[in-house]
Amino acid sequence: MKQHFDVIVIGGGIIGCSIAYYLAKEKIDVAVFEAQTIGSKSTSAAAGMLGAHSECNDSKIFLPFARSSQLAYFELNEELKRLSHIDIELKTGGIFKLAYNDDEKIQLASLLSQSTVKWYEPTEIQRKIPNITTDIIGAAYIEDDVSVLPTSVCMAFCKSAQVLGATIHENACVLDIQKIENTFMIHSTNGKFTADNIVIANGVWSTSFFKQLGLNNRLTPVKGECLSVTSEHLTLEHTIFHDHNYIVPRNNGKLVIGATMVQNEWNEKPTLLGIESLIETAKKMLPDMTKMTIESFWGGLRPQTIDQKPYIGKHPDNDNIFFATGHFRNGILLAPETGKMIRDFILKRKIRTEWVEAFKVNR
Ligand SMILES: Cc1cc2nc3c(=O)[nH]c(=O)nc-3n(C[C@H](O)[C@H](O)[C@H](O)COP(=O)(O)OP(=O)(O)OC[C@H]3O[C@@H](n4cnc5c(N)ncnc54)[C@H](O)[C@@H]3O)c2cc1C
Repeated sequence: MKQHFDVIVIGGGIIGCSIAYYLAKEKIDVAVFEAQTIGSKSTSAAAGMLGAHSECNDSKIFLPFARSSQLAYFELNEELKRLSHIDIELKTGGIFKLAYNDDEKIQLASLLSQSTVKWYEPTEIQRKIPNITTDIIGAAYIEDDVSVLPTSVCMAFCKSAQVLGATIHENACVLDIQKIENTFMIHSTNGKFTADNIVIANGVWSTSFFKQLGLNNRLTPVKGECLSVTSEHLTLEHTIFHDHNYIVPRNNGKLVIGATMVQNEWNEKPTLLGIESLIETAKKMLPDMTKMTIESFWGGLRPQTIDQKPYIGKHPDNDNIFFATGHFRNGILLAPETGKMIRDFILKRKIRTEWVEAFKVNR
């Protein structure tokens, strides 16, 4: 078994797998160490919206970063299919952000000031979504905020990275990192391995490595619950969104209803209260939903930082340790651009200064 790599990535969620893919594309010898199975934690809980406009209200720095990541998916769609034979299920149709009253319309003003976002009157919305509630006064329509199937994207990144030479260790929990002269040694449940560079990308569990590497940064878990429903009679082509709640259609006709926001909760299991609240809000948006059948329900932990922006950058005292974590509600959206940014740090390429500053670990 190979023992030494150019780069070891800790964590095989969508962020770790995207990083491995972009490094392997540059012929960098990279290995991913995943404590359980690839994509099995927060990544598998996500709805898969690529909400660059609907989620990112900082138009100067965060939106251009998110938008660049969103656009990367249109190239990845074919690229990853060719390498991995996995379809990431890119679904067009966009997002309708509903307004039930004038105050909510006012809150959509900055979103509506963007050239790609349009205001729709209720009659226009009903033409696109016949079953929509009649209680709304309109909606902001964002055609560019498409969606993907998160587990498929993660597996496609992982398989494509493997095709390009990356090594994947599953059921390999990294316990600690030691610096030995110019290399790093990791102790994992699969044994000891060394690398010239380490990337910490293990989602909300990165907190323990911040501590181990002398940093005070903390990530707090924000639990999210979802359920999936289906019906032969009700079809939906567009995502409907209202106040953190949404109904996202999949290519196979299933609808994902999400998601709760439970602060500081480490238990991933969904509760009756959480699922009940999702059903209530979804029924308000699409009253005909009541006859749909439940397929499954689940929970996951979003890694939240102090300012809800991710940490993507170097350890302040060590140029060979990198962090790519804290993607909170938008890890699926931000995975491609995060992978490219870590690749560029490692290859010492130029990165937009405002992104380096905004996402640096010691901010
Ligand atoms: C309900 C819900 C809905 C969401 N919807 C969306 C959405 O629509 N769009 C969007 O963009 N984002 C969404 N998100 C957010 C998104 O899921 C996360 O931001 C993203 O998955 C984070 O990816 P990650 O790779 O950092 O973390 P994870 O997917 O959690 O991966 C981290 C991995 O590290 C592994 N690990 C942990 N410790 C160790 C260790 N010591 N050694 C080795 N491996 C380790 C874990 O097993 C895990 O597989 C949603 C999240 C939730 C919970």
